Amino acid sequence: MTNTVTRSYKYRLYPNQTQQKALGDILWAACTLYNQALAYRKKRWQESRRGVTYYEQAAMWRQWRNEEPEENPLRVLNMTAGQQVLRRLDSAYRAFVKGQRGAPRFKRVDRFNSVTYKPGDGAAIQNGRLYVQNVGLVKVRWHRQLPGVVKNIVITGLNGRWHVCFQVEIEAVRPALHPGPAAGVDVGIHHALALSNGEFVDSPRHLAKAQARLRVLQRTVARRKQGGRNRRKAVRQLARQHERIANQRRDFWHKATRKLAGEFSAIVIEDLDLNFMLQNGNLARAAHDTGLGMFRDLLAYKAIEAGGEVVAVSPQNTSQMCSGCGCLVPKALSVRIHQCDHCGLRLDRDVNAARNILKRAGTLPLGANVDGYIVRSLRSSPS
Ligand SMILES: [Zn+2]
Repeated sequence: MTNTVTRSYKYRLYPNQTQQKALGDILWAACTLYNQALAYRKKRWQESRRGVTYYEQAAMWRQWRNEEPEENPLRVLNMTAGQQVLRRLDSAYRAFVKGQRGAPRFKRVDRFNSVTYKPGDGAAIQNGRLYVQNVGLVKVRWHRQLPGVVKNIVITGLNGRWHVCFQVEIEAVRPALHPGPAAGVDVGIHHALALSNGEFVDSPRHLAKAQARLRVLQRTVARRKQGGRNRRKAVRQLARQHERIANQRRDFWHKATRKLAGEFSAIVIEDLDLNFMLQNGNLARAAHDTGLGMFRDLLAYKAIEAGGEVVAVSPQNTSQMCSGCGCLVPKALSVRIHQCDHCGLRLDRDVNAARNILKRAGTLPLGANVDGYIVRSLRSSPS
C-alpha cells in the first residue's frame, strides 16, 4: 500500500549583495501586503461588521500590484506568492474566529521572514541554482539530494542568512510492522526522557553551554547604548545565538526520537495538554525548554515510518503511583527516588513514571514485568 507524504528539504542560499537586497525587497513587499490586507479587514469590520473573504483580498492584491506599474514597490512580489501571503492571513483569521488563536496582528518587517512560491511560478531550480523572479539565479548549497515532486518553494531570510525550503511530496511505502518491544516514556526536567526499561536520554551538555553564552550576550545587549553601532552588532549576535540553540535543540530531538522509533514498536507517552502547560507558569518554562511539542511531532512521524506507533495515555498520577503494586506514594518534585513501603519497589522516580505510562496503554496487568514486553494489540487498529 502506498500513499504520499509531504517532507521539507532545506538548503542554504548564497545570494550576492545585489540579490540579497532584492530578496529583502521581496520580504518587505510580502510584509507590507500582509499588513495592508489586515488593515482592510479590520477597517471593514469596524465600519460594517462584515468579514472579508480570501477571494476578495486576492482581487484587491491584483489591483494593488497593477497600479502605478513604474514605481510600485509591491510589484517585486510574484502574484502567486502574494496570494500565499493572503492565504496565511486568511487561515490566521479563521483560527481567530474559531477561538483557537488571538486576533491577527500587524507584522514587523524584521519579523516577516518567509515567502512561498509555487514551482515554476516566480521560483524554480535552473542549472543547479534557484531562479527567483526579480532576483535572478541564486547559488544553492545542495548538501543532500532532493527527492520527489516539489509542491512549494519557501524562501526564508533570518539574521542575514538565506535558505530555501522545498516542500516535497514523496511516495510513502507502508513499512512492515516493527518487531521491537514497547516502551513507556516520561518527559521530564531532570532527564529529558526516562524510559520504562530504565534508560535515560539527556539533552547534550553543549546545549547548556550555549544557553550560558546566551545569557552573556543578553547582558551585553542590555549594557550597550540604545541606537549605537555596537548595540546593533550585539543584537545580531544574540539573534544568531538564539538560532543556534534552536538548531541544537532540534538536532537533539531528531536524534532522540530516531533512537526511540528505531528501538520500540509502541511508544507510550503522556497525553499532556500543551496549551494548559504553556499558560501555567513554571511548567510552561519546563515544557518549553524540553521542546515537548517538537518531541511529540517528530516521534509520531518517525514511529509511523518505522512501522511502529505512538500511544498517548492519561497523565494522572503517573509519578505518584507505584508501578509495582499500584499504591499511591506521594512525593515532592525534589524527591528523585520512588520508594514504595507497600511492595518494597525502589527505583528512579521518572523510570517509575515511565513504567506507569507503559502500563496505562492497557495491555499489562498491574505488577507485570514490563521490560521487553511486546504490545501487539495496540497496533491492531490502523488509523
Ligand atoms: Zn509498590
